[in-house]
Amino acid sequence: MQRITILGSTGSIGTSTLDVVARHPDRFRIHALTANRQSELLLRQCRQFKPEYAVLLDERAAFQLRQQVHEAGLNTEILYGVDALERVAMLPEVDTVMAAIVGAAGLQPTLAAARAGKKILLANKEILVMAGNVFMEAVRTSGAVLLPIDSEHNAIFQALPRGYDGDLAGNGVCRILLTASGGPFRNTPLSELQNVTPQQACAHPNWVMGRKISVDSATMMNKGLEVIEAHWLFGADADDIQVVVHPQSVIHSLVEYVDGSVLAQLGNPDMRTPIAFGLAYPERITSGVAALDLFKVAKLDFIAPDFDRFPCLELAYQALRASGTAPAVLNAANEAAVGAFLEGQISFLDIPRVIASVLSSMPVNAVNNLDDVLGADAEARSTAMQKISALPGTKRAAPLHGGY
Ligand code: NAD
Ligand code: MG
Repeated sequence: MQRITILGSTGSIGTSTLDVVARHPDRFRIHALTANRQSELLLRQCRQFKPEYAVLLDERAAFQLRQQVHEAGLNTEILYGVDALERVAMLPEVDTVMAAIVGAAGLQPTLAAARAGKKILLANKEILVMAGNVFMEAVRTSGAVLLPIDSEHNAIFQALPRGYDGDLAGNGVCRILLTASGGPFRNTPLSELQNVTPQQACAHPNWVMGRKISVDSATMMNKGLEVIEAHWLFGADADDIQVVVHPQSVIHSLVEYVDGSVLAQLGNPDMRTPIAFGLAYPERITSGVAALDLFKVAKLDFIAPDFDRFPCLELAYQALRASGTAPAVLNAANEAAVGAFLEGQISFLDIPRVIASVLSSMPVNAVNNLDDVLGADAEARSTAMQKISALPGTKRAAPLHGGY
């Protein structure tokens, strides 16, 4: 029986994970569930999965949940705060940790899981963007098993040789082809982008996801973050990673080998496939995802990315090339800008403006430890706040941590 902690169980990835887990009660047991402050959904999850622990970041929501859990006659222990998130990620009886918190908030609990040598199913890509070398070093030192859940990286993982050691050239790989849907604004006239609303930006054509990643998909920062994620996961340089716009989202990514072979992983766009892959690895289990009907798909398109329309993609490549603290700065500025956009404080086109201006106003320093990352993250957020407040038309100061 595999005992699982889900960090971020009330989100899109969290609920999809529980959907797969519920299909295999003979294999998986939920040990701990965590959320920000969504106590109602967490209570329902506690009733269904009867975990040993449920953790909320928010203290008041945790008190309410404790009362409800008690009234429901459940034995789940309710904890709250960042320390509790770390604690349930490193409990000795936990085998697997699904990292499905959104943004920088997931870094410390997931790092705790890495240091404790857990099997980590990594959806929370911002962790690798901010702190790739610190996180990968923790994985190496403890012997943790890291399995990518982001659909593209899961596809690449499946298309690379089993036991891949991080050496692309040594394995005959010449390129990684990272597919992107292009998001909801791939064909929107540029003149209309200034006025798009958070609701329009969150209406993704192929995937149902949390609000922050939905906006990231609309700006294509999501693909930029994924380029950096691929760098750390697979030892690929910026020049080894080609973004390919593929609007059908059926091919989840490809690996090109020196002999001319190109291996792809295909499937319906449903995160339960990579989640089931990660949960059961190296076995295969059912996920609830419908079989891919190639006759219905009929046609697959591939288009080069438009860097003028999507400046965030270029900013992410620049940050990867600059290395050091630059990706952490990029990520923090993006989180602040997306939060401000979702709150209706800045326009869609202000998002790349804020990020570019934060990147160009901060030095790039080396990252030797977690404090270097957290320092750059905090400074980038406060710089982003200043830039956001200074923008003409800003409605009011943005929250420090995006309200998604
Ligand atoms: P979501 O917003 O739906 O869910 C986020 C979860 O994190 C929720 O359970 C929420 O309660 C929790 N959370 C938020 N802020 C928190 C905080 N400060 N402290 C503790 N918990 C907090 O997000 P999502 O779409 O499920 O995405 C989760 C992660 O997975 C993101 O990093 C995203 O980029 C990545 N991802 C998502 C998808 C997808 O299809 N949704 C695909 C690939 C990768
Ligand atoms: Mg993805």
